[in-house]
Amino acid sequence: MNIKSKTLPEICALFKDMGEPAFRARQVYGWLHKGARSYEEMTNIPQSLRARLAEQWPICPPEVVRKQGPSKDGTIKYLWRLQDGNCVETVLMRYRYGNTVCISTEVGCRMGCAFCASTLGGLVRRLEPYEMLDQVIFTQLDAGLPISRVVLMGIGEPLDNFDNVLRFLELANSPEGLGLSMRHISLSTCGLVPKIDELAKRKLQISLAISLHGPNDQIRDQIMPVNRAYPIEELLSACRRYFEATGRRVHFEYAMIRDLNDTQECARELLRRLRGLPAHINLIPLNHVQESPFKPSTREAVARFQRILEEGGITATVRRSLGGDIDASCGQLRSKYAKENR
Ligand code: SAH
Repeated sequence: MNIKSKTLPEICALFKDMGEPAFRARQVYGWLHKGARSYEEMTNIPQSLRARLAEQWPICPPEVVRKQGPSKDGTIKYLWRLQDGNCVETVLMRYRYGNTVCISTEVGCRMGCAFCASTLGGLVRRLEPYEMLDQVIFTQLDAGLPISRVVLMGIGEPLDNFDNVLRFLELANSPEGLGLSMRHISLSTCGLVPKIDELAKRKLQISLAISLHGPNDQIRDQIMPVNRAYPIEELLSACRRYFEATGRRVHFEYAMIRDLNDTQECARELLRRLRGLPAHINLIPLNHVQESPFKPSTREAVARFQRILEEGGITATVRRSLGGDIDASCGQLRSKYAKENR
């Protein structure tokens, strides 16, 4: 395990075994979470300890391979090269309510959603906790902007990398580290029901987002293979259980695909389906992916869909699309880079 995947109590235990006091562990932990790229930067740590740590616990920070932006709206996208040569992307978005980073949780993805660029080459491997943390730390450092929110909506399915993601949440939340509030972290899933239940048990105050993208099994089956394992009613039941366990309202993401899931009938069916569930729907005009046959809904169709939901008593917002001019959506930069370097 990389030292940066360890919690502070774990590092304290490690230092104790090395015959070092706990305050040294706290110092090193602080440096690591501020983005020290080597132990040499840790000037208040004795040279002999720095050398021992460097030998036993290499830091392995990611390298920036590509940086795009800032786009007109301030969005910056990073493509990082990890220790083993794999690449993942991170997006920094500037919202009124705070700078937000969207991080990747896996290299590739095995969920196979038909409209998504991240899943094209399948799953290569899952990210370690420190590799998720580093995306936040080094984006903050490079951009020189304080980051107050994190969304787990980049490449990968976070609940398919459950233990590492949970450890990442603990690390990101730690007051001696980034100190991010759980309420400022959102986790998005395509709908792995057993993992949603497992997450509910932890009673974290994070926001749960569900990629719904359709009001029924017929439509979800067409675009999301996961629906065949966990059909929509099972998924929504899990969302109800999640709300009961945590008191947190569930967010639904709904990518609007022309003539597939954007009709008035779909909106009405969605209303019926979500009745009684405290929910918020985020309508996302589909980002066109070159390899996919799906097209974004028209502006009119999105507006009509939103109106029907609102009239039915469900809050629905249309996600402002950021960074469209810099390939800043869902695995696009990684797949472009892979094509160029094939
Ligand atoms: N695997 C997780 C999180 C990563 S994707 C999940 O499925 O939720 C983050 C969001 O972007 C998901 O809602 C996903 O369905 C959506 N998405 C993927 N490709 C898209 C595209 N081309 N246009 C719009 N949204 C897309």
